[in-house]
Amino acid sequence: MRNCDILVIGSGVAGLSFALHCADFFKDKKILVLSKGRFEDSNTFCAQGGIAAVMDRIKDSYEQHIEDTLRAGDGLCNPEIVEMVVRDAPVRMLELMDWGVEFDFENSELELAKEGGHSKHRILHCKDHTGTNVLNVLVEQCKSRSNIELRENHHVIELLKSDEKNECIGALVSDELHAYPIYADYVMLATGGAGQVYACTSNPEVATGDGIAMAKKIGAHLHNMAFVQFHPTVLHTAQNNKPFLISEAVRGFGAILRNAAGEDFMYRYDPRGSLATRDIVSRAIFYEMKNEQTPNVWLDLRHLDKNEFERKFPSIYAHISNLGIEVDKEMIPVKPAAHYFCGGVQTDSYGQTSVSRLLASGECAATGLHGANRLASNSLLEALVFSHRAAKLLRQSFVASEQSFSDISPVMMEPCDVRYKEIMTRVQEIMTEQVGIIRTKNGLEKAKDSIERMMAILPANKMNVELKEVENVVTVAHSVIENSLQQEKNCGGFFIKEYELENNHL
Ligand SMILES: Cc1cc2nc3c(=O)[nH]c(=O)nc-3n(C[C@H](O)[C@H](O)[C@H](O)COP(=O)(O)OP(=O)(O)OC[C@H]3O[C@@H](n4cnc5c(N)ncnc54)[C@H](O)[C@@H]3O)c2cc1C
Repeated sequence: MRNCDILVIGSGVAGLSFALHCADFFKDKKILVLSKGRFEDSNTFCAQGGIAAVMDRIKDSYEQHIEDTLRAGDGLCNPEIVEMVVRDAPVRMLELMDWGVEFDFENSELELAKEGGHSKHRILHCKDHTGTNVLNVLVEQCKSRSNIELRENHHVIELLKSDEKNECIGALVSDELHAYPIYADYVMLATGGAGQVYACTSNPEVATGDGIAMAKKIGAHLHNMAFVQFHPTVLHTAQNNKPFLISEAVRGFGAILRNAAGEDFMYRYDPRGSLATRDIVSRAIFYEMKNEQTPNVWLDLRHLDKNEFERKFPSIYAHISNLGIEVDKEMIPVKPAAHYFCGGVQTDSYGQTSVSRLLASGECAATGLHGANRLASNSLLEALVFSHRAAKLLRQSFVASEQSFSDISPVMMEPCDVRYKEIMTRVQEIMTEQVGIIRTKNGLEKAKDSIERMMAILPANKMNVELKEVENVVTVAHSVIENSLQQEKNCGGFFIKEYELENNHL
């Protein structure tokens, strides 16, 4: 029995905006959105800086946004996709405003911020909690559509594929007690990123790369998995179990990175100083920390207007102040952390994957926009553009599946084993040490060996959500390593030490 017409896995910006468009295009179809945690457990909820779009074509231009994106992507972007996304951006922003997102305005004009790698002020934002505002608006809009059903705490543990055809037919879902199949005509994968593959990440705990791993398991092509973006500035604290991000927009506002000697070191690495692209800033920080044997560098705001900082970045200001840091008197300790997966499930320009009836959008997808390195604030935009295009594609070509869906009885979930957590921690350590900001060929080979040994000891056929997450993290880690070993030169966020001199990179 078919349980819904369109199944959406993930309730971040990609999943919810796709569900909304589908609900409006197909009044008679049922759209089911599943989320493994609560709505706020997503990268979207955490997004601070904003969304890049050319809203003022006198002070800015599509050509400049395209050029900045291509430059960050370091030769690996698909130029046609970049142009398409950049040109679609203003319409998607107006749509968000129509749905109820209140971007910041100044003197009745959009207040546009500037971030690393952007040549112009073009970031629309809601103070420093843009993602939270966008997510809340999308959730409310979805709740108002009678043909959308939202289910939190429903964890997809496998994608289902037809035995006869290369076709996705639904997913195996756990509601904590049981696992049962949900069948659909089309499945949208919107499961977000995989920051949890690393020990230090800006991503929440749900970001275990489930969609990427599950898609791989049913034969979908992955692309550019080597390209993991490290954000240069998460707050460094003694505990650091949940690193807090200090948005790039803070450097756009004028904050300066300094090393332990107080030097504004970034100009030694790039003429754009603290506003160079993330890959360059992260590597520079890595070298400074290594040379000075310190666990962090510093972000200096002491020369800036404290009240204006508080007005523009209320969440960051509150978080830092609660830790007792006075930004007008002392510097903020920061360090890099795994932040964004540029690679993922390969899609075409409408979000179609290599498996029929399986679409992908958002951070789990590799669309060709980011290439070797994502330009700041292009990712919420990418999700909005591709989710809209995928829904448009279905509007034009929806065909009910001919698959006969067999009823399977729910299976009981099994208890967690402490060893799963231990394996997860070990994988995160290996990835951080050997497959992080600076990689070596030898380190990659060693990491591959260790990860393969872990793959071999993971228990097979056990129905447990934590175990599935470990399997997914291991699968993603392995794909990152394999794709890293295939790279022949340093590019964007990807860096192998042996290639350093050849490429004359940092
Ligand atoms: C701290 C931080 C700040 C950021 N700031 C910005 C910014 O300013 N601008 C910008 O453009 N980008 C920013 N990003 C990146 C951006 O937020 C993400 O790329 C984007 O939100 C991804 O959206 P998504 O819908 O693809 O995934 P997410 O928002 O992560 O949503 C994924 C969803 O999938 C669900 N899910 C995952 N696995 C399963 C499963 N097995 N079963 C069921 N559900 C599942 C999750 O529960 C979640 O609901 C930031 C990211 C972080 C972490």
